[in-house]
Amino acid sequence: MLTVDHVSLTYPDGQDVLTVLKDVTFEVPSGLTAVVGPSGTGKSTLLRVIAGLQIADQGTVCVGEYCIDSSKHDAGTAQSIYVPQDFQLVPFLSAAENLQLAAEMRGRNVNDPEILLKIVGLQGLAKRVPEELSGGQQQRLALARALTVQARVLLPDEPTGSLDSETSQGIAALLREIAHSDQRCVIVATHDSALVDVADSVLSIQSGKVQKIR
Ligand code: ADP
Ligand code: MG
Repeated sequence: MLTVDHVSLTYPDGQDVLTVLKDVTFEVPSGLTAVVGPSGTGKSTLLRVIAGLQIADQGTVCVGEYCIDSSKHDAGTAQSIYVPQDFQLVPFLSAAENLQLAAEMRGRNVNDPEILLKIVGLQGLAKRVPEELSGGQQQRLALARALTVQARVLLPDEPTGSLDSETSQGIAALLREIAHSDQRCVIVATHDSALVDVADSVLSIQSGKVQKIR
């Protein structure tokens, strides 16, 4: 469903350049995929490139027939949505309003926020602002926000990074369910065995190269 083809990306590093992705090519089917690798190896960069938030120096990212071609410097029809590690929820908006805002920003509307909140296990909490939600609940809301735009590829960045192990297992199960219920592609950057254990496939990133290890 997702194809990453000959993608390279460097960052300026003083007088030098730092190569983070080195002619990376891989495919990801629908389901839950974990991207693992030590801190600083480029997991977040890879997810942002897939989401079209960063344009690679070279290469193409395609979701079905929709492609981001780095040579055109245009993320035009990105079909993927990045879920940042720190959620980036709007602090003064309620859970329902956070969903509505995200939908409106992509020209959509949320008819019934309660339906989305129920999918992520937040039923009855529509009126709470983010600080009235636990870390796990905020992560669930960030995932619901991603579901408002009906993207085919969801890219949660270290979604269990700041959660205890029991809460992490709940999020891992939810991510699997989201991936499987609608044939989506959910690709998580993670260090967490709770997520790696339930992933359908695992990619490792090291020294600019991405390898399928499961
Ligand atoms: P990970 O998510 O695996 O920890 P990142 O994708 O955040 O890795 O970063 C990969 C490497 O690129 C790191 O060495 C980081 O310092 C560097 N890096 C990330 N973003 C930038 C940037 N905007 N400018 C320069 N270097 C960056
Ligand atoms: Mg990261």
